[in-house]
Amino acid sequence: MTTTGSVTDPPAPQSSTADQSLYDTATAQFERAAEIIGLPVEYRTILGSPKNEIIVNFPVRLDDGRYELFRGYRIQHNNLLGPYKGGMRFSLGVDLDEVKALATWMTWKTSLVNVPFGGAKGGITFDPSLYSADERMRIVRRFTHALGNNIGPEHDIPAPDLGSTANDMVWMMDTFANSVDGSERQNVKRVVTGKTVECGGSLGRDKATGQGVAFALAHHLELEGRVVDGSTVAIQGFGNVGEHTARVLHAMGAEVRAVADHTGAIAVDQGAIDPEQLWQWTSQNGGVDGFPSADSVTVDEFFAADVDVLIPAAIEKQVTAERVPLIKARIIVEAANGPTTPDAERMLEAAGVVILPDVFANSGGVAVSYFEWVQNKMSQQWALTEVDYRLRQLIWDAGDRIEASRKSYECTRRDAAYAVALDRLRQVYDQRGIFP
Ligand code: NAD
Repeated sequence: MTTTGSVTDPPAPQSSTADQSLYDTATAQFERAAEIIGLPVEYRTILGSPKNEIIVNFPVRLDDGRYELFRGYRIQHNNLLGPYKGGMRFSLGVDLDEVKALATWMTWKTSLVNVPFGGAKGGITFDPSLYSADERMRIVRRFTHALGNNIGPEHDIPAPDLGSTANDMVWMMDTFANSVDGSERQNVKRVVTGKTVECGGSLGRDKATGQGVAFALAHHLELEGRVVDGSTVAIQGFGNVGEHTARVLHAMGAEVRAVADHTGAIAVDQGAIDPEQLWQWTSQNGGVDGFPSADSVTVDEFFAADVDVLIPAAIEKQVTAERVPLIKARIIVEAANGPTTPDAERMLEAAGVVILPDVFANSGGVAVSYFEWVQNKMSQQWALTEVDYRLRQLIWDAGDRIEASRKSYECTRRDAAYAVALDRLRQVYDQRGIFP
């Protein structure tokens, strides 16, 4: 990593690719659903803004002895239902607007799937691929230290997200544990979820979001009297979520026909891309580009793939109004957060394309994070079959609630999912009241 001064400024946040800011999109979605269910104005005011917005600037020593200043965020949107919960994103795109939107979506997600957590999100504005392993460790540890008691096992519980890994979570956990009294050290492992299994992670957490995406799709197909077996899919993103989604769907009999990531896009006309082979390739080559058992295609050709299901599992604002005319898939499963722009969503809904919204489709991650938190609290380790069984149950129940809500309010699946989430929050506010 090269820098110019002895202490450099944090990188300037990258601007959004589409016109509307992500947080404006999140706010508009919230207000629409609040209107649908007639949410009282006082609850709209509270839920309309995050409770806490924490920004930390912290210096880190690089391998060559110089120091760089990094900027990190933790946005705590709401903790009515339980401790703040949400991922930590490591990317140059991390800025206040993005993290506020992502934190807001976490509140709806945890409420929708009925896990006793609130909503939060955080991250560091940096590109982890540009730093050595040692530098990365120091960045993660110093960020955790800078956050101090703003996180905690019963207060705010981070997890991996875009750009961060299970090992980063282990460093966060270890740093936090070393900052508490020795007698408390074993009791704080659950300050972070998504850890490696060896360090207290849950079996099945690595694949949880992808597994949940597959369950969400299976739930929807069952409503249509169909099954995953034999369906064709295109997946954008082959990181934690995309790779595991591909693996689980492949194991269920689906054919992965196209995959795209930041390096390029690949597709096959017939048969299927083997996720294990593709993973071997991406591990060695840094991305899907050049995978020898498929054709290289353009991004537009990827979106135009002749498949049943399109699964954006990379970054936000990828399914745009310009790309909608290309899309042949009749089902879009939002594995990423915020992948569909509002304009595109209106066009797709008008065309009868089913959109399984992110707060539902990618909730497997936070669901199994909850299982990890419970296992840590009880000093237990559950079998993978138990984790998968419980996850399927949570996703199925959430899918059933969305379907009932969609019929009752005659609205889109996204509005229906928000309505379920907001209704649960309303009931709790009604019963607890607003202090003082
Ligand atoms: P990751 O960093 O492991 O992988 C990201 C993938 O997106 C990579 O394959 C990368 O090449 C690709 N990508 C990045 N920029 C791209 C671009 N411009 N065009 C095409 N592809 C691009 O991240 P992840 O953990 O898999 O997260 C992916 C999405 O899923 C994010 O929106 C994240 O918020 C969401 N999500 C993640 C989890 C989780 O448990 N990790 C849980 C819920 C939601």
